[in-house]
Amino acid sequence: MNFKELGLIEPILRALDTQGYKQPTPIQEQAIPILLQKKDLLGCAQTGTGKTAAFTLPIIQHLHAEVDQNQKRQVKALVITPTRELALQIEENVAAYARHTKLRHAVIFGGVKQGAQTRRLAQGVDFLVATPGRLLDLIGQGFITLKHIKYFVLDEADQMLDMGFIHDIKKVIKQLPTNRQSLFFSATMAPAIVKLSQQILGKPERVTIKPEQTTAEKVEQSVYMVAKADKIKLLSQLIKNKSVDSSLVFSRTKHGANKVVKKLDQAGIKAEAIHGNKSQNARVKALEGFKAGKINVLVATDIAARGIDVEELDLVINYDLPNVAETYVHRIGRTGRANASGEAISFCDAEERSYLKQIEKLINTQLRVVKDHQFVDSRPDLPPAKKTNNQRRSPKPKRKVSRKPSN
Ligand code: AMP
Repeated sequence: MNFKELGLIEPILRALDTQGYKQPTPIQEQAIPILLQKKDLLGCAQTGTGKTAAFTLPIIQHLHAEVDQNQKRQVKALVITPTRELALQIEENVAAYARHTKLRHAVIFGGVKQGAQTRRLAQGVDFLVATPGRLLDLIGQGFITLKHIKYFVLDEADQMLDMGFIHDIKKVIKQLPTNRQSLFFSATMAPAIVKLSQQILGKPERVTIKPEQTTAEKVEQSVYMVAKADKIKLLSQLIKNKSVDSSLVFSRTKHGANKVVKKLDQAGIKAEAIHGNKSQNARVKALEGFKAGKINVLVATDIAARGIDVEELDLVINYDLPNVAETYVHRIGRTGRANASGEAISFCDAEERSYLKQIEKLINTQLRVVKDHQFVDSRPDLPPAKKTNNQRRSPKPKRKVSRKPSN
């Protein structure tokens, strides 16, 4: 199956050719025909599967046919997504895929001054990508109306709930016209997510892309048993020995991420941290430096890493193992994207062994244990460390609404 056979039009096919996409990914193959028929969609898929193109391409195609260039532009398509990085990344994709159309697109997110965003809105926008807080702010100030929305996408719904955006989302939904096409994406389908999807979607078609299909098979995975105190030495050694161009290191906490960067720096390795305590500018700068190859190692927390879209990420290192097994799949999905293969290395200390067991159960694979390294820790398993607040994951509907990611 190629993109033409999916029913996409020539200006989009040309853009995909420029992007170098040869074949649709499984989610694109399944979702695009459904969406071109203007049906609602419930998609269970994570970032890294090609889902952004799966939902933006059909919307671009609809808008291309409908938008009257002589009329004042109204926002007709809206994507809401939890983080600034994701919002930027989606809009970047829209810009690339719509380059041969006359569509106007914009992205809005918090943490920066609103002037540039409102100026762009005033010029007229067809396709808007937004984070929930800034969207509501600008609606409140009269810069945006949702009255003309025909296409609505809620992206990364599970992350939205985790970040306490549920009330914001409900406020947005209330303002949408009932006659619209709605798309809902989530990596997981916990009961709270399903409930939310029912409030947004009519009778949706469903598409499920299992993470195993997209990552585990393509990513070479291994684990190093190592004492907590030796992790930093092992990390420096691995990065130096492997001499990879770009690696993403995951830390469970913001403080941990900063510490790792400091130590790598001392070891002469150029690294930057990316997490919610960094300003938007610092995050964008770090990401650009990384993409340009000026920085070889990016150390990120899970939420901040969601939006990192780097074509050739060679290596993912789990400096800390996540205490939620699905997060492991999200993390290793950062490498081995689309057609590339990748490598994922995990560090596991005595307290993290139970997390490792949960991960292996989820992915139905036993990770290869690397035994020939200098810092092997063969102590018996210890019970996991007590969870801190920011490690707890389950959505708490009563939690205070926070508009800025805290991690
Ligand atoms: P996403 O899951 O939307 O974040 O996409 C993951 C990555 O795959 C992005 O870097 C896309 O540019 C890339 N991508 C999406 N679709 C394709 C395709 N059909 N062929 C090659 N790369 C793709």
